[in-house]
Amino acid sequence: MFNSIFRKQLTLNLGILAISLILLGIVLSQVIRGYLTDQRVAFLEEAGEKIALEVSKYYEYGMIDTQRINLQGQMARQYLNASMILLNDDMSVFANSADIDLSNANKESFNLEEFAPLTQGKIVVTRGDINGILEEKKLIVGYPVRSNNTIAASVLLISSIADLEKTIMEMYIATALCLLLAVILGFVLILILSKSISEPLRQMNLAAKQISGGDYAQRINSVGRDEVSQLALSLNNMAESLEQQEKKRREFIANFSHDLRSPLTSVRGFIQAIMDGAVPPEKTNHYLGIVMDETERLSKLANDIVDLSESEMRGIELKESVFDINTLIRETAFMFETRIVEKNLVLNLNFADNENPVTADREKIHRVIYNLLDNAIKFTPEGGEITSETSLANDRVVVTVKDTGIGVSPEDQKYIFDRFYKVDESRGEDKKGNGLGLSIVREFLRLHGSSVKLESIQGVGSAFSFELKTARQPTSTV
Ligand code: ADP
Repeated sequence: MFNSIFRKQLTLNLGILAISLILLGIVLSQVIRGYLTDQRVAFLEEAGEKIALEVSKYYEYGMIDTQRINLQGQMARQYLNASMILLNDDMSVFANSADIDLSNANKESFNLEEFAPLTQGKIVVTRGDINGILEEKKLIVGYPVRSNNTIAASVLLISSIADLEKTIMEMYIATALCLLLAVILGFVLILILSKSISEPLRQMNLAAKQISGGDYAQRINSVGRDEVSQLALSLNNMAESLEQQEKKRREFIANFSHDLRSPLTSVRGFIQAIMDGAVPPEKTNHYLGIVMDETERLSKLANDIVDLSESEMRGIELKESVFDINTLIRETAFMFETRIVEKNLVLNLNFADNENPVTADREKIHRVIYNLLDNAIKFTPEGGEITSETSLANDRVVVTVKDTGIGVSPEDQKYIFDRFYKVDESRGEDKKGNGLGLSIVREFLRLHGSSVKLESIQGVGSAFSFELKTARQPTSTV
């Protein structure tokens, strides 16, 4: 389950999450500490200011409102947990709140360097235990008391740090809990996400292994439209086409061996019969003629297979030249003269112009026209009509071979260009055909970037057509 991509993803994402949260934690703790301390200092300063104002009245008017000072002191005590000390301008103690024990203090105790700014009218914020007078380190805010433009005294407000630290700690814990929750949620989300990415990859790997082992029926379930799903889809398509190819390969071998076996069997049978003396001498030539036909069929089969496989494996290079397609059609049709006459067929040749030069591989196109005419003659009953014509369409010459033959059913039209495919009904007419003629036509035209079209009605006839590039300047005609 924990394959390597999954682990990498998980480690990476968790690493990023951990680093982000640690940084966030550090920043947050600094901000919280700073904020709470600043807030406490601000409160103490505010209280210090008010108390200093009351004290200054004593120096200015000789009277002091102890009640108000006490009230401020109490408030400082209650809300800020702070004690108060009033110092004279020589830093000796003038008064202090009851909760602070100054029995250890002497005249010099407050004469400290950190309190020096008070005498210059500056507010002092510091932490310390005032030479051991306080039982622990505390937060001290000193506020100068001004009277007639001189510093007459100072107010020290002393607040417990322990209680501030406690508040900070509580905030830390709350923040840490939130971060922990974020880590848990993040972990679960990352786990689900990483799994959703790595699981299809794992499945694909498994399927690819099985496909490469020959199990082409394997498919991957893919939902969604991300890159991984696209990859799964491509793999499925690949498996599909491999499956198709494998099926075709098997069919091809089955057909090929069948077509190879039957003529060989009959050749063997006739030769055996002649050798055994089972054939009367006057019939020997007749049977040898059949043997000859069969061997011709075999060599045609072998040639067709070689042509097809060479072409399909792109072993064939086109030898393009410019030639007159009308001349080629005429020459090819001439080769069928005997059969046309034997079958009492009418042959029409209709050409667009006197000459229609095209750029193509002459030999291949000859083979295409030959196969089309051969079929037209084969599948047209006696007295029928064969027409071969050329017409022009933009920069193309359209070549058509038409017949008034048996036609091809819409269902068979889908398959007749496949290798070894022969329509069952035609078998009677065409014992010699190997079902490769139209495959070669299609393949040779594909090499020319062209294709063959068929229009056919059963019992009426068929028209096969294809297009070739018109040559602008005919340089040679044959
Ligand atoms: P073959 O070499 O056996 O003729 P093809 O590939 O040339 O094989 O043709 C495949 C099948 O297509 C033929 O067996 C025949 O059934 C059908 N066919 C081809 N041409 C025609 C045609 N002009 N009229 C009717 N059927 C045809």
